[in-house]
Amino acid sequence: MKYISTRGNSPALSFIEVVTSGLAKDGGLYMPDSVPNFSNKEISGWKHLSYTELAEKIMIPYIGEEIKTVYLRKIIKDSYSEFHHPEIAPLHKLSDNKYVLELFHGPTMAFKDFALQFLGRILNHVLENKKEDVIIIGATSGDTGSAAIEGCKNCKHIELFMLHPHGKVSDVQRKQMTTVDSPNIHNLAIEGNFDDCQDMVKEMFFHPEFAGKRRLVAVNSINWVRIMAQIVYYFYAALKVGSPEHKISFAVPTGNFGDIFAGYMASKMGLPIEKLIVATNKNDILHRFFTKNDYSKKGVSQSYSPSMDIQVSSNFERLLFELYDRDGKEVSSLMDKFKLEGKLSVTKEVFEKALNIFSSHTANDDEIVNIIKNTYENNNYISDPHTATAISSVKEVNLKEPHIILATSHPAKFPAVIEKSIGLCPNLPDYIGSLFEKEEKFTKLSNNIEEVKKYIKDSSSLSSH
Ligand SMILES: *Cc1c(COP(=O)(O)O)cnc(C)c1O
Repeated sequence: MKYISTRGNSPALSFIEVVTSGLAKDGGLYMPDSVPNFSNKEISGWKHLSYTELAEKIMIPYIGEEIKTVYLRKIIKDSYSEFHHPEIAPLHKLSDNKYVLELFHGPTMAFKDFALQFLGRILNHVLENKKEDVIIIGATSGDTGSAAIEGCKNCKHIELFMLHPHGKVSDVQRKQMTTVDSPNIHNLAIEGNFDDCQDMVKEMFFHPEFAGKRRLVAVNSINWVRIMAQIVYYFYAALKVGSPEHKISFAVPTGNFGDIFAGYMASKMGLPIEKLIVATNKNDILHRFFTKNDYSKKGVSQSYSPSMDIQVSSNFERLLFELYDRDGKEVSSLMDKFKLEGKLSVTKEVFEKALNIFSSHTANDDEIVNIIKNTYENNNYISDPHTATAISSVKEVNLKEPHIILATSHPAKFPAVIEKSIGLCPNLPDYIGSLFEKEEKFTKLSNNIEEVKKYIKDSSSLSSH
């Protein structure tokens, strides 16, 4: 399998090259040059596979011979051995045809562990073979940071710099990042918002010269491996509730459009999906796109679901690439326009194509609180504030076929909102341990890319300078 840029103007890369890179040189994101497709018969044959067995089936076609199956099998097994539930991604039935897919049983209690436990290990495997050390730079609105840090803290070939918006992530989220005591981990608290952090990271990948010979690797969902690993649970959950005989819908709390794009890839691979529901909070650029064909940037505002406080969704570009039949020139000119004017819209034909599979919903903070309360009272289930936006999105739909709501975080990560909603506070699971007693380590920097670059340059200690 080769990987090509969404902007059509960069050389094709192998899987291993894509694992160890960030943005394509033309500013685009990498996509597989073809999408593997499975028949209903093949998919039904997977009903009895365990999560890790299914992961192999889904991932091998994207990796090919580049990583031997014995190694891949071990990497997959190790990646999910740190999950605290025997099913890894258990389904919880809320009511008839309405299920919650719990994706928060990993080490940092958010769905990002699914991809980052795997990415950290596969990177280390590749770097060990190449005898190469790299720098990872990432931006986080809360959960990517801790998941990436957990996934990479023992990787001796990686030095990781994680940017988070100062004061804009929850206490638990921050402590999960800043209390990890590994010399290769650097937390940078930026005086700005998530989009500022993400812009800086993109800019650094676009102009990586400051890092000298050292290669910069992305762990944000611009890295294809993140998307690939997330495709697995769409198949896994759908098979559990009657797929491929029944069409299934998924409601997905969405920020950077990575998770739901994995669902879109699952449908391209043959999984019969009825609808993918994009659930947003009050930062609703995606909702405005899917209802009014208006993808226009507004300021980010802080909400009760901070991991979705994003305006510019990186992976939206991958969707444009698919909707425009992989025409890199078209995507490139749309993205240029967006950079210049802060807005874009698509042709009528492309918009209709998008609506064949996507719909969207937005929930403000009051609705989030109400949904958490109602779900607790009616279904005896405590949902986290991100998951609540997705529960809200299926409130009004007619449930003739199964709907699966992706639960992206454990409610105990957001105690203040849960307390406000239902008057009690879920406990942090035991395995999180004494987060609140540990010493925190981070460096505060202003919202200035030169300062950040200098910091990274001065403080990275890898041998291959
Ligand atoms: C990251 C995150 C999201 C958004 O996922 P995207 O892939 O960025 O769309 C939603 N909920 C939680 C809890 C997250 O951590």
